[in-house]
Amino acid sequence: MSAPRPNLLLVEDDPQIQRFLATALDAHGYALRIAGSGNEGLQLAALHQPDIAIVDIGLPDISGLDLIARLREWYAQPILVLSAREREADKVAALDLGADDYLTKPFGIGELLARLRVMQRHLAGREAAGESPRIEIGDITLDLAARRVLRGDEDVHLTPIEYQLLATLARHRGKVLTHRQLLREVWGAAHTESPQYLRIYMRSLRKKIETDPARPRWLTTEVGVGYRLADGEERI
Ligand code: CA
Repeated sequence: MSAPRPNLLLVEDDPQIQRFLATALDAHGYALRIAGSGNEGLQLAALHQPDIAIVDIGLPDISGLDLIARLREWYAQPILVLSAREREADKVAALDLGADDYLTKPFGIGELLARLRVMQRHLAGREAAGESPRIEIGDITLDLAARRVLRGDEDVHLTPIEYQLLATLARHRGKVLTHRQLLREVWGAAHTESPQYLRIYMRSLRKKIETDPARPRWLTTEVGVGYRLADGEERI
């Protein structure tokens, strides 16, 4: 028996994007339901429990941000946000509300499929027994159980903050984390307004992890939003 088709929900009022995604996602083995408004999106999500929700920020009734906040009261599956290029602040707000990732319009189908695959891998990992304690990042191995970082067989010496930062990004591999999320996770709730800490530690972490720290392959910057530990497959 073949695996069931992943069940997606698209909440978007633009008919052109609806048509484009309906065709492309069907061709790639996804089952897609479409809601043209936020309220319809809430109803369909409750009714069908989609594996992944794709939510446009600009909706005709409630805003996509309100929709994400309301979904996150009970919906634990990944949410991918679609946003207009000029609305940087919306992306950050959406991620802080609990969305998992975003795509900026216009986007290609390849980019969308890559994001969906990352989300599906996270879901599969969540369902597997526990979290894998070892994470491979190129020639770097992060051993979460032993709190050790190795390059080949050699120990890489990280400060406690650098380690926390890397471990946090690694636990959400492939996913963008906002400045606020990283600061809260690593430094605590009192420091969420201090993104300069992040820049400093990210620079030193890149020197220890990256082959070419000036052109990072793994610890990538999402300008104006946050940072991401690249999933191997995602880099083009
Ligand atoms: Ca729209």
